Amino acid sequence: MPKASKKGLLKLYKDHNVQLLISKFVSGELDALNPTFDPKQGFRYPIVDNLVGDSSTEDFLQSLSDGGVLERKLYDKIVYCPSCNSANVSIHYTCPHCKSFDVKKSALIEHIKCGYIDTEDHFQKEGKLICPKCNKPLLAPDVDHHKAGVWCTCNQCSKSFDIPVPAHFCRKCEENFTFDEAIYKDVYSYTLTPEAAKEATVGWIMIAPIMEFLGDKGFEIESPGFLDGKSGTRHMFDLIAVSSKKKKTTAIDLATSNDGVVSEQSVISMFAKVFDANPDQACLVVIPKMTESGKKLAALYKIDLIEGKDQNAAIDALKSCVSQ
Ligand SMILES: [Zn+2]
Ligand SMILES: [Zn+2]
Ligand SMILES: [Zn+2]
Repeated sequence: MPKASKKGLLKLYKDHNVQLLISKFVSGELDALNPTFDPKQGFRYPIVDNLVGDSSTEDFLQSLSDGGVLERKLYDKIVYCPSCNSANVSIHYTCPHCKSFDVKKSALIEHIKCGYIDTEDHFQKEGKLICPKCNKPLLAPDVDHHKAGVWCTCNQCSKSFDIPVPAHFCRKCEENFTFDEAIYKDVYSYTLTPEAAKEATVGWIMIAPIMEFLGDKGFEIESPGFLDGKSGTRHMFDLIAVSSKKKKTTAIDLATSNDGVVSEQSVISMFAKVFDANPDQACLVVIPKMTESGKKLAALYKIDLIEGKDQNAAIDALKSCVSQ
């Protein structure tokens, strides 16, 4: 699986939910994790809700963003009602004089020729725009007249103004509240950081061809795959392949190293899982090779060690080892 550069990242990568989310990015299923708006609950990330459960989504995304797996970008802002926390909130543009939201918004038009400015309805005459001052018809926007802003009129106190005061109305509890009182939060969209993408791709590049090969052979495959142990613990392997004929279960883990040899620790960790979960066969795919003591341990533990100097060589070696 992905080789992490930092300790924190390594811990995150071990989390199955993190792996599932990363694989959605790496496989191209997800380009960016954008929130979807739900009037009842506000912004949601349904894909993540399904992985971790609704109540943990925020913490989960926060930890991935802090941990350097995901990069977040401000996507939107959201207003919640301070009384009932609902996101089903509307905006009211209110009169600065009497606070009523019964405000009529009109466009201001300037007749360039004579300089007269008024609201659009004063120019309306029998379906045409006629200047009330010089009585000339208006021809074309931006030629002889143009929009000169907006003008609001309050239907309650009849006063006019150009800038209304925004306020909020909760459609759920019907409370009115101001920006001062509003709960105002950031909403992010998330992408995989370039570092995480690189590390994840390494893991994915390794696993994808193995999955393809076993899939072609008629195996049922799951990556990551899970087996329940005698102890009740659920163990995760990089890949689980079940043969279609004999229903033989093969657990496959991958271990890579940049230093030339993979340490025997990966044999020991796999054995701990295999001992408890007891698959029919256990394969440890090692690139490029295992230490001598690791080889002896694997033989002792009945773990099939598959060494390959690179990924293709490892897949070739796997072919002769895994059979229906
Ligand atoms: Zn409310
Ligand atoms: Zn008013
Ligand atoms: Zn005019």
